[in-house]
Amino acid sequence: MNQIPFTQVRSWQDELRDAVTDPAELLSCLELPADLLEGARQGDALFSLKVPHPYLQRIKKGNPLDPLLLQVLPQLQETQHQPGYTQDPLAEQQANPLPGLIHKYTHRVLLVLSGACAINCRYCFRRHFAYQENQLGKAQWQQILAYLHQHPEVDEVIFSGGDPLATPDVRLQRMIHDLEKIPHLERLRIHTRLPVVIPSRITPALLSALSETRLQSLVVLHINHANEIDAEVKHASRLITQHNIPLLNQSVLLKGVNDSVAVQKTLSKTLFAAGILPYYLFLFDPVAGAAHFDLSETQAKDLAAHLQAELPGYLMPRLAVEIPGKASKTLLIPSYNTRNHPE
Ligand code: SF4
Repeated sequence: MNQIPFTQVRSWQDELRDAVTDPAELLSCLELPADLLEGARQGDALFSLKVPHPYLQRIKKGNPLDPLLLQVLPQLQETQHQPGYTQDPLAEQQANPLPGLIHKYTHRVLLVLSGACAINCRYCFRRHFAYQENQLGKAQWQQILAYLHQHPEVDEVIFSGGDPLATPDVRLQRMIHDLEKIPHLERLRIHTRLPVVIPSRITPALLSALSETRLQSLVVLHINHANEIDAEVKHASRLITQHNIPLLNQSVLLKGVNDSVAVQKTLSKTLFAAGILPYYLFLFDPVAGAAHFDLSETQAKDLAAHLQAELPGYLMPRLAVEIPGKASKTLLIPSYNTRNHPE
């Protein structure tokens, strides 16, 4: 396989270590007005700022409304309480029988491999998640393996987080090796934003671990805007697909970031050009501190209906919402708001 060089290859661990975490530094790097600093500091006190340089470089300087900036910049609005927005909007605490294991749907379990992320997304529905109580040490891992052995109905394991790819390759390899021994497991899914934020995370060792297991691996990225996809992200995506690992994307509908047909259309087309299939477009989960990103279900369905008219079916992400307690994600049918579109 051709090794395409990154323009600036730095290890993902170095990039993680050097991520920007100081609001003043972020504003300075991006030549943004100083009057954003106070709000950024207050938001940062609730959920810390974190953005690595490879992602920072894709944000346009001097634009406080840049759609990538809005995903990472702490804001004063995060400090304002809004009724209906909670710390655990998906009621995951009720589906958390063991540390590090969430079992919401009958046939698949989600493992919280790491509380760390490469980037702190302001709208994250797990921004208040009890990662401290869900750390996976050796004892917890053995408990999880025992749980999986006792649940033959589970055929898929999802590595999630935080970001599961914040876990070192050697540990991931060991975990996959353990899971392979459970005969009823068929698939291993990785939910990650790390290859988007730091593309050098796609290492040869990771690709080997995912492509050489008997489990069928698939990777689901999290990209909300086409500007997040640069040459390095495309290269990382190609490495994944060249290893015959299906590559999908899920995104969240966010006010001010990607709530227009034009932005969604460009996102779907850019994903596909990078070898990534649009999978889900989620309604925002009502998490405390991020209400300013929310859109109504009616607005979402209206946008999706217009988008559907613009795209071939294979580029149309499924508009969906997660409703706590339901047996699966709930698909929403795109529909025009007839009051706005009487035709
Ligand atoms: S990378 Fe994913 S888990 Fe981490 S903050 Fe962003 S949305 Fe949340």
